[in-house]
Amino acid sequence: MIRVSDIAVYLKCPMMCYFLNKGHNLVNEITPAYLERLILKEMALTYGDAFNALDKLSFLGDSLDRISDEIRIIYRTELSGIDARTLADSVSNVRSYLENICSNISSDDFYTSEIVDEPLLQSEKLGLSGSPDRLVKINGELVPSIIKTGNMPQSGVWSSDRLALTAYSILVEEKYNSSVEKGFVEYARWGKVREVLIKRHERRKVLTIRDRIKKIHEGFMPEKPKDAPCEHCGFTGICDVKSTLVSRFF
Ligand code: SF4
Repeated sequence: MIRVSDIAVYLKCPMMCYFLNKGHNLVNEITPAYLERLILKEMALTYGDAFNALDKLSFLGDSLDRISDEIRIIYRTELSGIDARTLADSVSNVRSYLENICSNISSDDFYTSEIVDEPLLQSEKLGLSGSPDRLVKINGELVPSIIKTGNMPQSGVWSSDRLALTAYSILVEEKYNSSVEKGFVEYARWGKVREVLIKRHERRKVLTIRDRIKKIHEGFMPEKPKDAPCEHCGFTGICDVKSTLVSRFF
């Protein structure tokens, strides 16, 4: 079964898919920036309630206080080596975004929608599974929404997010026998939400990438892309060795 998150990995570099499938772990170093993103993810889950609060800014401040107490419980293993000072700095950075977040969520109709928590979406027929951050009820139909804690593009959304939403839309359609025409990307750092129309050529692309990942899972070793982000990749060591062996062999 291919996961929607595998598609995002494939888009970064197909070789990463290969190594993950071989059981190698990609260890994420917990930097202050990464910690900030974990906090923002938890914060984004409260924006709907903040929208309905009388004093939105105080509500967000209280949510951040609660999250700073609870974050170690939620991400117990990941944050085991993080000291109190680093956590306090990241919380303080997130606090500096709250006013801007508050003004953005105040004017976004998205937060009036009914949000439905969705466990795993899974299709044996499609060989695809994944968990969107939430499903949103729009005119009686469920559509997927994903929370992103990184940069927001000037306009629209990043193409990898577009494809992830397309994949989730296909899974929602399969489960609920519906037709999904749009999805949402929530940019947690700004409290902004962008709508994405689900397009036919991206549906096609999702299925093509799914088939390529399937081949990788069957043992096929993909090419190392010319623009692979090797300088930030935890597989650099094993990747160089494997690629050299393969090129020598042929
Ligand atoms: S080291 Fe480069 S080519 Fe290898 S998996 Fe990482 S990003 Fe891909």
